Amino acid sequence: RKSDLVIVYHRQPYEEVEVDGRMVLRENTSPNGIVPTLKGFFGQVNRGAWVAWKHADDPANPGFERVIEISDSFGTYSVSRLPLTPAQVTSFYHVTSKEAFWPILHGFKETYNYDPVDWPTFREVNWAFAEAAAAEAAPGAVIWVHDYNLWLVPGYLRKLRPDARIVFFHHTPFPGADMFATLPWRGEIVESLLSCDAVGFHIPRYARNFTAVAESQAAAEVVEEIPTPEEMAPMGGALTARRLPLALAYQGRRIRVHTNPVGANFDYIEGLSQTDEVAEKVEEIRAEMGDAKLVLSVSRTDYTKGNVEQLETFERLLERRPELHGQVRLMLVSVGANRAMAAYEEVQRRIEELTGRINGRFGSFEWQPIALISTAIPLAQLVAYYRAADVASITPLADGLNLVASEFCAAQGEGGQGVLVLSEFAGCAVTLQGAVPVNPFSHASMDSGLDQALAMTPEEARARLGALRRSAKRWDIGAWTRGELELFESLRNRGA
Ligand code: UDP
Repeated sequence: RKSDLVIVYHRQPYEEVEVDGRMVLRENTSPNGIVPTLKGFFGQVNRGAWVAWKHADDPANPGFERVIEISDSFGTYSVSRLPLTPAQVTSFYHVTSKEAFWPILHGFKETYNYDPVDWPTFREVNWAFAEAAAAEAAPGAVIWVHDYNLWLVPGYLRKLRPDARIVFFHHTPFPGADMFATLPWRGEIVESLLSCDAVGFHIPRYARNFTAVAESQAAAEVVEEIPTPEEMAPMGGALTARRLPLALAYQGRRIRVHTNPVGANFDYIEGLSQTDEVAEKVEEIRAEMGDAKLVLSVSRTDYTKGNVEQLETFERLLERRPELHGQVRLMLVSVGANRAMAAYEEVQRRIEELTGRINGRFGSFEWQPIALISTAIPLAQLVAYYRAADVASITPLADGLNLVASEFCAAQGEGGQGVLVLSEFAGCAVTLQGAVPVNPFSHASMDSGLDQALAMTPEEARARLGALRRSAKRWDIGAWTRGELELFESLRNRGA
């Protein structure tokens, strides 16, 4: 049986764990995260399929079944597993995607590394994803491809399955035309994306950047647009339409360009934050803090996340305002990547160095200004820190969306008075109302944002948090899901 919805996402939709020397598949029961969200779509169709990769030393003889059938709480669906060698994974994922595409997507030309890219391998791996997806799709199925590491899949799919509705969603920012032009494979990538029926982004700014790239690289034509002043705001500004009425015409086809920001699982996070277990942990953290204020920052270790700038801001705070010594602590959760990559190792080293320097300069026996945590904190515990924090400081230099900011608002709960300091360069700065906005490239802006957050009256903080919570709930994961389902529906109705 073939599927009416094929999800093409590089990671597998379950965990593999070793039990008594055997690998078994285990469903991750947490409803938080992109994988359970995507699996949730299987409940809306007759039959679903998922395409991912899996390590195999010998792809010709992988030692596992390529296509398996899974039954879990999301229903029954097939999973196609592409056997990739460690060398293929390194080349396609760690080098091409993370060292070449990632910096350009986020506007970091100086970190961009073209030389080690092996383009034939990238093509070959993307072709394998396309073939596997084409094999599972029923006539007229929606094939839903996720993220830049699969950029060439739509182009191959259009050749293999002209009948399919091909939809692509970007979970990252999309850069302007001159930044994108850095990529030598730009023409091939844009051609592929223009093979889609719809291309999706978190916010209008990224969608606009994409249409500009499509116009300049492929002479695609914008055929429909209703811009609004708010939507056109260069940074921030309200998101007035969930889906921009934007479309491109290219080679006799019409490509929808839609915006729909992924959101946090607001109700789940809020529920988790209200449990006895979390309440106890919050008490513990508050007791440990005494009268001091807790500033919390949470992210992966990545040069895009601005942790170095954040630490420098905190150092300046302690220099500028000696009266705060002993009265404020920064908890910096910066979770290291699994695999060593030069660019990430360099950031990690800078973070550790700065933390050591600041703690050495200002700390005492009773007071350590910064607690640096480098390993992932389980969500239930993270939620306790969200609730206990006085300030959440989320200041990326570039970030497709940023879920941590919305999770903080959910976990604070009704009547909470935590303050969110939020970079204007996070995608969610467009949807979240009530944060203290900062420009992480400006010392003055970062300094005054932190000062404002620490000095805020409880009344103002409660009012702002109320607005933040309303907007985080309005743009939660349910809203994203409904938006994507509506899109699929309208593509199906359009006829083959
Ligand atoms: N997270 C976590 N433990 C940690 C740090 C982060 O569970 O110690 C989770 C966090 O709850 C959030 C996700 O990791 O859901 C990070 O998503 P976000 O969109 O903020 O950033 P990304 O890493 O996708 O760029």
